[in-house]
Amino acid sequence: SNKEPTIPASSSAISTTMDAGSTEIELPGSTPTTADKPTSLLSSIMADNPYFSAGAGLMGIGVVLGGLRKGVNLAGNFAQRRLLVTLEIPSKDRAYPWFLEWMAAQAKAAKALELEAGESSSASTSISRPSTTSKIRQILSGNIPVQSHQLAVETTYKQHSNGSTEALFTLVPGPGTHYFRYKSAWIQLKRERDSKLMDLHSGIPWETVTLTTLSRDRNLFPLLLKEARELADREKEGKTVVYTAWGTEWRPFGKPRRKRETGSVVLAEGIGERVESDLRRFLGRGKWYADRGIPYRRGYLLHGPPGSGKTSFIQALAGNLSYNICLLNLSERGLTDDKLNHLLGITPERSIVLLEDIDAAFNRRVQTSEDGFKSSVTFSGLLNALDGVASAEERIIFMTTNHFDRLDPALVRPGRVDLKELLDDAVPEQAKRLFKRFYGKDQDGADEAEIARLASKLAGMVGDEMGRGRRVSMAALQGHFIRHAPGESLDTLNDLFGER
Ligand code: ADP
Repeated sequence: SNKEPTIPASSSAISTTMDAGSTEIELPGSTPTTADKPTSLLSSIMADNPYFSAGAGLMGIGVVLGGLRKGVNLAGNFAQRRLLVTLEIPSKDRAYPWFLEWMAAQAKAAKALELEAGESSSASTSISRPSTTSKIRQILSGNIPVQSHQLAVETTYKQHSNGSTEALFTLVPGPGTHYFRYKSAWIQLKRERDSKLMDLHSGIPWETVTLTTLSRDRNLFPLLLKEARELADREKEGKTVVYTAWGTEWRPFGKPRRKRETGSVVLAEGIGERVESDLRRFLGRGKWYADRGIPYRRGYLLHGPPGSGKTSFIQALAGNLSYNICLLNLSERGLTDDKLNHLLGITPERSIVLLEDIDAAFNRRVQTSEDGFKSSVTFSGLLNALDGVASAEERIIFMTTNHFDRLDPALVRPGRVDLKELLDDAVPEQAKRLFKRFYGKDQDGADEAEIARLASKLAGMVGDEMGRGRRVSMAALQGHFIRHAPGESLDTLNDLFGER
């Protein structure tokens, strides 16, 4: 134990470079020479006693071995402290999902490389056992993905432009220790799950990913994180992220969706423009609000029958302004006044809050589901959350409802709802535009004049704003157009009216 102080002393004298470190590792090798002295002293004293000298010899070996082991341990610890750098990424950190995504992308890229090398036969096992040639290729390229037998699956939903969803599975390194190579440096990856601590609301255990590499490669960590961040940004570019409430926080729901084109939502004359220009004006007036001490927020209410494009329009609008959406349904299980208030206070930057089916907060008292579940967002809770503490960030809230008449006047007063618009069933002009959108321009060989004539004929069949004629929702019209060719779609239109 008396050797202990000498090691840190010498270690501080040795610089942290690799070479200096390796001499330190050899230190235990020199232990015998230092141990030589006492051994020879002992042996000179006990030289004439064979029993003593044998015992002393054994003891000497024991001492030397013990010293060696200790030295190796110390050197190991020292090397770990001096020669290695570790980076800890806790699951609470924003970089955590980025890093896991990045890992998954690396593995995917490597797999593609392998398939390209014409080794599809072994592709099914490629994640855990890349074949030799592909390994060589990867070594040459400097990056080797995680070689691992412990994988975890992360499922995300991808939404196609037509609204259908598809589940995507990504294999990421599971809890345990893995190794991978990044820019010719080996990195150890340890993913650990805390068995005791977990997020109380989501029930997800806390996790930590620890990366370890040689000290000389420490500059790779920022590079790697930057790459991961850029990958995450690229995923979002030109896309709208939809967040949903997850316990007490907002989490992205599925992959970012492709922005919805504003033109793809056909509203009655002027409505879209009114909402958009109001919102744009609001966004440009942060200083105006601040100077007057008015909370910087604006509320919008879109009401009307189902399938009139309320949600789609908000989606398109958010995309157009490069905003994300925080989606919250007031009838959601477990949503309480407190939680609602909290969630509205912590929305991610550049996001529009979308409260769907706002009328649900009003008939709640009578609604109890079979298992006795009662949602506990109360009307006053909703008003409180809307009025909320003024935050420095702007707050944009869109509310939708199919039942305007059920809303309490207190909700729709200015300050809570600053602009309300009715999105109704199709008006003739709207039906005509949707028809042209479907069958016009992009369709091969479509005769524009013919399309225009058919569209006008359709317009004549759809009810108008005064409630004359026949009512049909835009969603139903869209469905009909998807199923039929232009001429045929007019002939069968009667099937559609009165369907609802
Ligand atoms: P809402 O929120 O009013 O119930 P949605 O926005 O969910 O309606 O629309 C349902 C479907 O109908 C979507 O696929 C959407 O594309 C289509 N749709 C509804 N209204 C329109 C519209 N005005 N223009 C284009 N498509 C529409």
